[in-house]
Amino acid sequence: MQRKSVNAGLSPDIIATLKRQGYHLVGKHSAVKPCLWLKKSLRGEGLCYKGLFYGIKSHCCVQMTPSIFCNQRCLHCWRPIEILNFEDVTDVEWDTPASIVDGCLREQQRLISGYKGAKTTDLKALDEARAPKHAAISLIGEPTLYPHLKELVEEFHKRGMTTFVVTNGTKPEVLRRITPTQLYLSLNATHEGLYRKISGADFWEEIKESLRVLRRKDEEGVRTVIRITCVEGLNMDDAEGYASLVKLAAPAFVEVKAYMYLGFSRLRLHRDAMPSHESVRRFAAEIAEAAGYKVAKESETSRVVLLARALGG
Ligand code: SF4
Repeated sequence: MQRKSVNAGLSPDIIATLKRQGYHLVGKHSAVKPCLWLKKSLRGEGLCYKGLFYGIKSHCCVQMTPSIFCNQRCLHCWRPIEILNFEDVTDVEWDTPASIVDGCLREQQRLISGYKGAKTTDLKALDEARAPKHAAISLIGEPTLYPHLKELVEEFHKRGMTTFVVTNGTKPEVLRRITPTQLYLSLNATHEGLYRKISGADFWEEIKESLRVLRRKDEEGVRTVIRITCVEGLNMDDAEGYASLVKLAAPAFVEVKAYMYLGFSRLRLHRDAMPSHESVRRFAAEIAEAAGYKVAKESETSRVVLLARALGG
């Protein structure tokens, strides 16, 4: 049977939209994009909150995805999900993990080479950026849709890099197989009705199973994190509900983070849906109290509060 490649299925308009948004396509279904903090970090203007929370240097981080497609359509997503729905990904001729890693690293080098001549560039940081230490498998789309995610993670590790995988939790069977350095699960609702409303999808049971898988991953030595994106007026009124789901997964950390009024999410939500840092901090403290976690760190710039499992938890 003739196999369809994803890029062959993307219209020139979609490819142009992605390129305009700064995505650099790699192979048929992967992408890499330098984040705002990589640029700041190369100029010595600070690190993203992952630097503060987990010690990641932004200029040494490759932000990529092996699947530009997603099986959810979250209201708060700043990516152009309307044009990248999962139904389009059928019968794909998948690229190999090695070719994806090679392509992303090559593209990242090309991207940072442009900083060489700039007066504002921190040359030490630029030198470090030539040998990236970290892959954030979290950019656009859902990485667990790529069938060789386990091998992709291993490929990065073979090259001396650590990995963060961020998942929407819809594929617990994939999470069972992978062993990244850090595994994030996005949790944005406390019950099925709200989940359907926010995500436009029907995977609530899978997400609850993924929470149970997260608990086992923690026992295997993977650093586990639940990320809650708070949308004012939508999902910030049930701290007890989040706490009981947090207890199910018992992750090392919980990130309680404000929705940001950015990108394509502005077509779906109002600016008022972006909570203040104060509001996030208050809600995070309620979740911490109910779940038996403690507030560990916070970044006001990114409006995020980090909760850590209490000792012995
Ligand atoms: S799961 Fe992530 S990538 Fe997919 S629509 Fe939701 S926020 Fe966007």
